[in-house]
Amino acid sequence: MPETPPPPGSTPPEKPGSWVMLVLWLAVLLSLLSIFLADTGPSTETVSYSAMKEIIRERDVSAAVIAEHEITVTIGTPGAADSVAYRAVLPVQDGESLLATLENRGVEITARAPEGVSILTYLLPWLLIFGAIIWLNSRMTGGLGGARGPGNLFSGRFSKPTERRQRVTFDDVAGQDEVKREVSELVDFLREPDRFHRVGAEAPHGVLLMGPPGTGKTLLAKALAGEADVPFFSTSGSEFIEVFVGVGAGRVRKLFEAARKAAPAIIFIDELDSIGRTRGTGLGGGHDEREQTLNQILAELDGFGEREAVVVLAATNRPDVLDPALLRPGRFDRHVTLNLPDREARREILGIHARKLPLAGDAGLDAIAAGTPGFSGADLKNLLNEAAISAARRGGAQITGADLQDARDKVMMGTVRTLAIQPEEHHRLAVHEAGHAAVAYYTPGADTLYKVTIIPRGRSLGGTHMLSEEERHTLPEDYLRAQIVTLLAGRAAEKQLIGTVSSGADDDIKRATQLARSMVGRWGMDPEIGPIDLRQNEDHPFLGRSMAMPRIHAEQTAAQVDRAVMSLLSAAEEEATATLAAHADEVASLIAALEEKEVLDFEEIRRCLDPESATAAAAP
Ligand code: ADP
Repeated sequence: MPETPPPPGSTPPEKPGSWVMLVLWLAVLLSLLSIFLADTGPSTETVSYSAMKEIIRERDVSAAVIAEHEITVTIGTPGAADSVAYRAVLPVQDGESLLATLENRGVEITARAPEGVSILTYLLPWLLIFGAIIWLNSRMTGGLGGARGPGNLFSGRFSKPTERRQRVTFDDVAGQDEVKREVSELVDFLREPDRFHRVGAEAPHGVLLMGPPGTGKTLLAKALAGEADVPFFSTSGSEFIEVFVGVGAGRVRKLFEAARKAAPAIIFIDELDSIGRTRGTGLGGGHDEREQTLNQILAELDGFGEREAVVVLAATNRPDVLDPALLRPGRFDRHVTLNLPDREARREILGIHARKLPLAGDAGLDAIAAGTPGFSGADLKNLLNEAAISAARRGGAQITGADLQDARDKVMMGTVRTLAIQPEEHHRLAVHEAGHAAVAYYTPGADTLYKVTIIPRGRSLGGTHMLSEEERHTLPEDYLRAQIVTLLAGRAAEKQLIGTVSSGADDDIKRATQLARSMVGRWGMDPEIGPIDLRQNEDHPFLGRSMAMPRIHAEQTAAQVDRAVMSLLSAAEEEATATLAAHADEVASLIAALEEKEVLDFEEIRRCLDPESATAAAAP
């Protein structure tokens, strides 16, 4: 979620921990000081009791100070530079005899009352404990802006939920027309709740926004608040998770309370999945807090009266892991899905964000929109920003088409890296990438080539980049086979033209294997095994990555899957090798061109691989 500036007129949140720390430091400093001060004075030598007796008898003692267990005598004028002091510990019973001697010699004797222990010594541990509690409290309530001092101890911290009036409207949200239509009904409800109440209509209270990150869920919620012109209370699910059980629930209560007071209002909860996961399935500890928070949200949703014009929007990109209780009628019962933008929507998003940028003409936004399948709204915004940065670096006043192309390459493939590459490695890289590119070019059904490069970018040394021609929602079998063939073509080319293979195919093999496994064990694309789910691992909702599953099929079946995967992969490799052999001359010219220029775009690739059609296309 993007940061929004604090509402005008609000004071910057005071950090409750800071003054506590100040007091603590002062206390420590003071006590150190008192110890230090107590020890100053003329240099005093500590001597034994017998030596002290001797000193008193023999030397010219001018003054004596007797404290509880201690005697200090001074030789010479007290305070003078040449005076010397001696100190000795008194035996328990003695003192009388010494006193007598001192008196006889006419020494001035001062007795000092037993020293009281500094009050700080008593106070310090308490100060420390108290400080630690306040510090902890401030830590656990930190983040949402507001507990002031120890009065709020343990009460949870939603003292003042962030309420903002947004100026974002639906015009700022590109594409997503269906979604806008779906939620526009809510705008009417928030604007004129009475109209709904009159006819006894109960407006929805909970709306779940689902969709991949960056598709504009937060933006849509803000736009809704902007359109309806109501306060916007925004928080994130992860902010409710704290060390102490019950704090999150307290915050939920306060958040809803504040929104009810401000009604009509919108509450937006980002990352609902971080609290809303199916209960009772927490891995490891710490899910009690989550459950309580979740229960509190459910209770609040149920507690909305018919007349309360508060709409709760929650965003998640993992609707599959949500607790079913959240989705029941009366709770988040409206589901709105935001998809990655298609070409037209991408063009619109680029248009919206380019409004504020000095573009040179149109700068080819259409081409960028066409060449960025799979980009989210946030990615596109980022792309424009990268282009602006590259224009600024260049010292240009406008963003050109070239800036945009560079930015896209950077976002898609990573930043160019300088890396010393040996000549023979350079050659191997060219062979490898040319293999991918050539096979992708000649294999029917594969994605269209976009660019091939042997310049190290991001984490890879080279790359063959392809674009899906259209948005794909399902993957046909021949497309998948073509992908595997293309993936294995780099290695096949190395083997064929250099004679050995290298570790460069690591990721290719991994991806090809994953695809082949999915084809066989998931999508039923092996004729012998047929349509059966034989996955051995699963994307685990709570760990956020895949986890091995217990195998529920026979050893034999597993072996059969392995065999099918292997034969799929080796068939693909054979096909790649055959394709490369059939076009050996063209591949050789591609390798040469790649070694020379390091980056080739589609036209240049075509000129190497298909000279006739390239000239035919160029002629008219
Ligand atoms: P999400 O909450 O789905 O992760 P955000 O709403 O935070 O995504 O989107 C991040 C940014 O991407 C937004 O602030 C906005 O600038 C941009 N963006 C995303 N989708 C769109 C869209 N459809 N139209 C315009 N801008 C968008």
